[in-house]
Parts: sequence; structure tokens; C-alpha cells
Amino acid sequence: MKNVIAELKHVSREYDGGRIVALQDVTMQVGLGEWLSITGPSGSGKSTLLHLLSGLDRPTTGSIVFDGREKISSRQWARLRARRIGFIFQSFNLMPALTALENVEVPLFGVMRRSAQRRQRAMDLLERVGLADRSRQRPGALSGGERQRIAIARALVNSPDFILADEPTGNLDTRTSREIMDLLESIHNAERTTLVVVTHDMQIASCAGRTIRCVDGVIAGDT
Ligand code: ADP
Repeated sequence: MKNVIAELKHVSREYDGGRIVALQDVTMQVGLGEWLSITGPSGSGKSTLLHLLSGLDRPTTGSIVFDGREKISSRQWARLRARRIGFIFQSFNLMPALTALENVEVPLFGVMRRSAQRRQRAMDLLERVGLADRSRQRPGALSGGERQRIAIARALVNSPDFILADEPTGNLDTRTSREIMDLLESIHNAERTTLVVVTHDMQIASCAGRTIRCVDGVIAGDT
């Protein structure tokens, strides 16, 4: 692979003193600008793989390389997640007490100093996901698809070049799932952002340029 953004080198992740092996000696690369889907049965290590790629979790053995950098500290990972990595969760993980606009604004604290500038940037992202008119609503007043759009706007607000999504359509109906995937693909196409999506949905997986299949903590297929 020519340009690599992230790499796992002989990575294992164990829990419970080694009684549970979530990933076992996995070596893989994610290419710059790639659209990669990760499939496999429940419990096969997909989320663990995604968390490791974003530094949200650390390997028991082996190493992760991000953009050529190895031995990344927790602090450096936090900085990378604030500036270069966007993470989207199945259950949206929005803050219920904040409005849509405020939720999108959260990652800008510590990055953009002026509040007017932050508001404008968050508003631009809400427009981008088609929800400018919902900016003052709280998540409780929004549909599942709208909540996921807000979560996507939040993940994109610092212009990441690496987007990771863990079952982003797992809580949505078929039509809304397609809309959310169209949105993620349009971002990938427009900005050549690297896109890695964990999904059970084979129709979604088949839209990716490459699909990895996890089985029992190892990569059983790479097509
Ligand atoms: P998937 O995303 O494919 O469903 P996961 O990566 O979530 O799989 O989990 C892989 C294995 O690791 C499963 O057996 C799961 O129960 C176990 N596991 C994941 N996280 C933890 C944890 N924090 N503590 C103990 N076991 C865990």
C-alpha cells in the first residue's frame, strides 16, 4: 500500500488477564483516502479494532502507527482526536441538555477561541448535514436520523481527515440508514477523507472500496 494513514502491527487486545482475547496478532493498514468497511459477527473484535485505530483503546501487545508516528501517548491521541480524527457512535452519544448547535460546538472548545467563530463554524456544519433549521432543538426532540446527522456534524467540525464510524446506522431504519451512508460517502468523496465503517449491513459494506471481515479476533478476509 502506497500511502498509509493508520497501521496495526501485530496487535492483540486481551481482557480479564488474557481470558478474553478480543483481537489476536492483527496486522493491517488503512490507506490514505480509503473507504473501508469492517464486518463480522458480534463479538468478533470489530469495535475493538476501531477503538484501537483512534487511540480510544490501547493494545495489550503490538503497536499502532498513525500517520507515520509510533509510540503515541494518551495525550497525543487526545490531540489527534481533537484535530484529525472524527468518531461516530451507533448510539449518537449526544449531550441531552445541549442544543443541536451546542453539541456540534463542543469539540471546538480549546481549538477555536472566539465564541462567535465557534457558533458560525458549528452552524456551517449543521447546514452541511441539512439541519440548520433544527439548531435550537435538543436531541430529545429529534428523530434518530437527525440525531445521527448532528453527531456527524460534531465529528466533522474540526475538519478531520480520518473518520471512524461504529455501526452508525445500527439504530436507524433502512431509508434513514441509506441517507446517513450517502452523507458519509459524500464527505469522503468531496474531501478524500479516509472513511472506516463497522457495519453488520452487507449492503452498506459492499459500497466500500475495501472490506475487512473479522472472525474470532483475527482478520479472516480482506477484499
Ligand atoms: P464486535 O464489535 O465485533 O461485536 P468487540 O470488539 O466489541 O466485538 O468485542 C470483542 C470481544 O471482546 C468480545 O468477546 C467482547 O465481549 C470482548 N470485550 C470487548 N470489550 C470488553 C471489555 N471492556 N471487557 C471485557 N471484554 C470485552
